[in-house]
Amino acid sequence: MDIASFRRQGKEVIDNICDYYENLDQIPPMSTVKPGYLYKIIPHDPPEEPESFEDVQQDLQNKIMPGITHWQSGNFFGWFPSSNSFPSMIGDMYSNMLNIVGFNWICSPAVTELETMMTDWLGKLIGLNKRFLAVNADGTEGQGGGSIQGSASEAIIVAMIAGREMALDRLRGDNTEAEVDEMRHKFVAYFSDQTHCSGQKASNIIGCKACIVPSDDNYRLTQDALLDAIRKDKAAGLIPFFVCGTFGTTNTTAIDDLVGIADVAKTEKLWFHVDAAYAGSALSCPEFRPLALGIERADSFNFNTHKWMLISFECSVMWVADSTHLVNALSIQREYLPRVKGEKTFVKDYRNWQLPLGRRFGALKLWFMMRMYGATGIRANIREDVKQAKWFEEKLLEDGRFEIMAPVVFGLVVFRIKPAAITSTKVLPIGECVTNKANIDLVKAIHADNRVFLVGTHIKGKDVVRVSIGSTIGNQQHAENLLEVVLQLTTSVIEQWS
Ligand SMILES: *Cc1c(COP(=O)(O)O)cnc(C)c1O
Repeated sequence: MDIASFRRQGKEVIDNICDYYENLDQIPPMSTVKPGYLYKIIPHDPPEEPESFEDVQQDLQNKIMPGITHWQSGNFFGWFPSSNSFPSMIGDMYSNMLNIVGFNWICSPAVTELETMMTDWLGKLIGLNKRFLAVNADGTEGQGGGSIQGSASEAIIVAMIAGREMALDRLRGDNTEAEVDEMRHKFVAYFSDQTHCSGQKASNIIGCKACIVPSDDNYRLTQDALLDAIRKDKAAGLIPFFVCGTFGTTNTTAIDDLVGIADVAKTEKLWFHVDAAYAGSALSCPEFRPLALGIERADSFNFNTHKWMLISFECSVMWVADSTHLVNALSIQREYLPRVKGEKTFVKDYRNWQLPLGRRFGALKLWFMMRMYGATGIRANIREDVKQAKWFEEKLLEDGRFEIMAPVVFGLVVFRIKPAAITSTKVLPIGECVTNKANIDLVKAIHADNRVFLVGTHIKGKDVVRVSIGSTIGNQQHAENLLEVVLQLTTSVIEQWS
């Protein structure tokens, strides 16, 4: 493809993208292909000779699109949103144009410096404590700062590595190297049973023990439960080094006792990471900030702008209050990685803040989005979603057949058909519950119907339905459509069970 063809066909692609967005309401949100479908229709070897753009484009339509579930559809209410925006897409296109591998300042000064500034902008936008900012109010360089990670899962690994370094550093003060080597096998990290699975995965990856603390009836990690677990582990000779609090859990958007956890982290000298992957975006609206008390005392904090802040996947921003341990743990010098000599203020080697060496010019999409939406636009987007979620909750309660399983604080509504609405005469094996089965059936019926898409989950023995409102193009009309589908299919599920 030469420049002339790219100029022409690239514009055609933009047209296709616009058509796609304009027509999303006409497409069922969920792909219904069977596993392995593509293997049957795509050649098993790469082409020997070049093919035309038109041919590939046609196959995109005919072969790939059927296997797509449409996360951008206004009728998509699954998992958490993958919110996108045109300014973010434009920023990403320019990032593709430049295709820089920005591991050091020298690779492209703007890549590093814009990231430092954009993560500070973003930190200010969500009211993050100034400890986390790269630049102090007086213009001097701070101890902390933000960096763009691929995902929240990566961020938690990075946080655990920094926490481990902090603990090793402390132990090295009083012990020989051989003793410290023994001790590191006894490190244990704390999560709740509602912490995202990435906590367990990160523990597996870095090779420490993971203690899964039971959450309370409101799905929160509490101070008492955490202290209890720590006491037992210490008695067994383990060394606590890390705790993760969640601001907005994946199942129910519960908020852990962050203040209580911060107290424990302080006395027990744990690295305190706050995972706000989804709900962090809501902090752009000041009315949500009282819920976030305790975050200001964390060692690291992370949220996914690609979940609910109009940024295309992937852009998970992670801040540390003090980058020393992180950089000490991850910095390795080699001759082929030249560093800036002399004046180094605001020159961050972001390669030492993350797992890979290379990194994208991710700050560009943040820059386009934040400038073109402004804080007011970003807040309006969040508030509109929360309003629709509360409206949907209200309508479910009005209907009378449902119960809401967790407070609706953000854009997530977790509910189920309540036991009293199902008067079943069917006999089930012992231990099986009609209410659970009916709610699983409701999710299945919604998938089969395919006017809207959502997923179910299982919390503390209960099968429930999860509605996550947050698609960028979704509006009140989509919420009404969703309600209609849910009410209608609930009627048929209840009929089947009675
Ligand atoms: C979605 C989610 C994650 C994982 O996000 P990735 O960026 O896909 O790794 C982690 N924690 C919470 C609370 C989440 O909701």
